[in-house]
Amino acid sequence: MSFVCPVCCEEYIFTSRLCPSCQKIKHYCSIYSRARLMEVLDSVFSREEDKQNNKLKVEINKEIENLKNKVLKPLQIKRGEEVD
Ligand SMILES: [Zn+2]
Repeated sequence: MSFVCPVCCEEYIFTSRLCPSCQKIKHYCSIYSRARLMEVLDSVFSREEDKQNNKLKVEINKEIENLKNKVLKPLQIKRGEEVD
């Protein structure tokens, strides 16, 4: 029986199957889908370190726009308001 997290292989685990950090990653997969998570990780971390922050900001803005489209636009349409 292993007592090391099977994903990161760094943290010791005793009562759960994953360490808290890897559990958080799993939670993000359930929220955004594994495909979207991999897309973000590939696009951000396949760059030089100094350019990673800029790409991260782009990905965050993309998520904000996705949320606006999912949440705000249907509300605006329902209210009969002008949609951008
Ligand atoms: Zn872990």
